[in-house]
Amino acid sequence: MSNSRFKALDIALNRELKPFEVPAHLSELYGNNVFSEHLMQEYLTKEAFIKWQGAACKGEKMSREIADQIAIAMKDWALSCGATHYTHWFQPLTGATAEKHDAFISPMPAGRAIERFHGAMLIQQEPDASSFPSGGIRNTFEARGYTAWDPSSPAFLIGTTLCIPTIFVSYTGEALDYKTPLLRALSAVNTAATQVVKYFNKDIRNVNATLGWEQEYFLIDEALFHQRPDLVFSGRTLLGHAPAKGQQLEDHYFGSIPQRAMDFIKELEVECIRLAIPVATRHNEVAPNQFELAPIFEEVNLAVDHNSLLMDAMDRLARRHHFKVLLHEKPFAGVNGSGKHNNWSLATDSGENLLAPGKNPKKNLQFLTFFINTIKAVHDYADLLRASIASLGNDHRLGANEAPPAIISVFVGDHLKKVVDDLEKITKGKLSADEKTELKLHIIGKIPPILLDNTDRNRTSPFAFTGNKFEFRAVGASAHCAEPMIALNTIVAQQLIDFKKDVDQLIENKAMKKDDAILNVLREYIESSKKIIFEGDGYSANWIKEAQKKGLSNHTTTPVALEHEIRKEYIHLFEKNGVLSERELKARSEIKFEKYVKLFTIEAEVLADMVRNYVLPAALRYQTQLIENVKGLKEIYGKDFKPLAKNQSDLIAVLSGRFSEIGDLLGKLDEERKKALAHSKISEKAKAFSEHIRPLLEKIRSESDALEMITEDALWPFPKYRELLFIR
Ligand code: ADP
Ligand code: MG
Repeated sequence: MSNSRFKALDIALNRELKPFEVPAHLSELYGNNVFSEHLMQEYLTKEAFIKWQGAACKGEKMSREIADQIAIAMKDWALSCGATHYTHWFQPLTGATAEKHDAFISPMPAGRAIERFHGAMLIQQEPDASSFPSGGIRNTFEARGYTAWDPSSPAFLIGTTLCIPTIFVSYTGEALDYKTPLLRALSAVNTAATQVVKYFNKDIRNVNATLGWEQEYFLIDEALFHQRPDLVFSGRTLLGHAPAKGQQLEDHYFGSIPQRAMDFIKELEVECIRLAIPVATRHNEVAPNQFELAPIFEEVNLAVDHNSLLMDAMDRLARRHHFKVLLHEKPFAGVNGSGKHNNWSLATDSGENLLAPGKNPKKNLQFLTFFINTIKAVHDYADLLRASIASLGNDHRLGANEAPPAIISVFVGDHLKKVVDDLEKITKGKLSADEKTELKLHIIGKIPPILLDNTDRNRTSPFAFTGNKFEFRAVGASAHCAEPMIALNTIVAQQLIDFKKDVDQLIENKAMKKDDAILNVLREYIESSKKIIFEGDGYSANWIKEAQKKGLSNHTTTPVALEHEIRKEYIHLFEKNGVLSERELKARSEIKFEKYVKLFTIEAEVLADMVRNYVLPAALRYQTQLIENVKGLKEIYGKDFKPLAKNQSDLIAVLSGRFSEIGDLLGKLDEERKKALAHSKISEKAKAFSEHIRPLLEKIRSESDALEMITEDALWPFPKYRELLFIR
């Protein structure tokens, strides 16, 4: 009997609410757990504070004395908040965050002890790194890697531990984490964008990329979660029949957020506030049990750290409310998946958003420069962007009729589409005075400063301009934001370098005026990259055909997408911009392939187990009941039993049919799995899984889901979709 399912349901349905009281004066809590800039100012001497600013904003070196001073200040603050330990907090390529806690306390002679923390401990550490993925960079015999302080991201407290954001590199200085190449990409885009923005404003010294992520997730009751080996081991349901009417169904369920979820969300938000993660919106998503959290945008490095922190905090706090957070891109078949929109822009040190149209033609030319260069970058490096969001989970979401397709395209909205079309028509070379006036008055001058309402919210585009920023929507919910941010900022950096070169050449060689040169180059870019602009319905089948005709790629699976990532031109791109060396890029690619194969292997094993050990026995038991019933009818009615037993007899046959089909499929799965794992190259293994194993898993699932529909409910071993998806 599957009474463990009913026990779990009973627990889930009778959960005691744990109301969370939101403390008053939230603003007073803001950043309480962060050693923020204003605390630094308070704790440090003026000299040390200025030196820290130099290190944080410009990457300047810091003397040992200053580092000591900052370390002592950090320790004093942390101790005053009750901290006992410290850790270098880093983001290895596992995708999770890592930390190794050390106590502040240090024994002294004569049985005394003090709390100790100094500059060297702040700046560098050598965690035992051998268990983190390195893609072959770090052979185990030289298993040393070290973490180094990132002064541009503030230290924070989790419980009684002081966490110091760090990069994680191998002994030979190669990146083993997300933060190292991210910082390099941000520095590249800063330098390139600053050069370009000087055409418009000579005083600008820095340009920061900004990121506002929107995190979608599902909440599932913990007791039900533990009844499902697929959720436990792979984060998604590998089988399960969708509820009759899918998600349009119970509208009333998600008009308002259920109280239990609300209590969790409130507590999560307060935790965010304490960590200075500027949470803003809170709402239900389209699917039942699905929610979203979106803070106000920040500088990219900080925003990325904050997203990692949030994902950790969610997991931690969910336990208190007996929830499990699912960050998988597609936890439930037939139900909307989860993404993590990455809203991205560039801002100058004077606080100006370079992707916001301005009040006059000059500002708008600046806007168009960054706008069109971004489009060109996406056009030229579309396959790289696609690869940056590739994962097994996201393969189930992209192109699944409710998320952007795997085809990279850019949505710009009616108004800007017209501007771009008009710009393409301007004369090549020098512009006449009349043409310039016309341009200023009617095209460039006419872009309204607030485009928000003009950009029709086309939800089907993977990369949409939304008024004053681009929104990369194809990013998966469980992704590390750094991955797409490394790609995007690097390609825009390269594009801006090329743009500067092109414009300067026209100014020097053709004696063109600056504005003429800029307009000429932009016109050319529109011509060469306009095929990436797509304003229509990205979910439609037509788009796939149209995109193919235009020559846009459609890499529907991770192995294909990843193969493109290590193309020569991309290796060159990363090397030239100092973001990743060839060795680093290839090592990372290897890790991604490995992760894909590992996860897929788990899914295949778990599904086979679930079907063999739970589904089939349950359905067999049901069949046995039917057989007993038929026998009984025969006993009572003798030779007249047949019409009375017709339905049962048919069902018995149907069940037998499905059993033998499943038996065959499981046999094939074993065979294909062996074949796939026999490939020596990891990319070949990955391809075999995507081409041969995935269709088998889908077939097994559909057989199992059919059994779920006919087997007696009381015998079914796993919580069903309708039970998992509706919390009270
Ligand atoms: P949606 O309709 O996609 O939910 P929202 O307006 O709710 O969009 O979210 C917009 C997101 O974009 C927010 O996270 C916000 O912080 C972010 N955002 C706004 N301006 C910028 C910017 N200049 N740079 C980066 N992100 C931004
Ligand atoms: Mg969005």
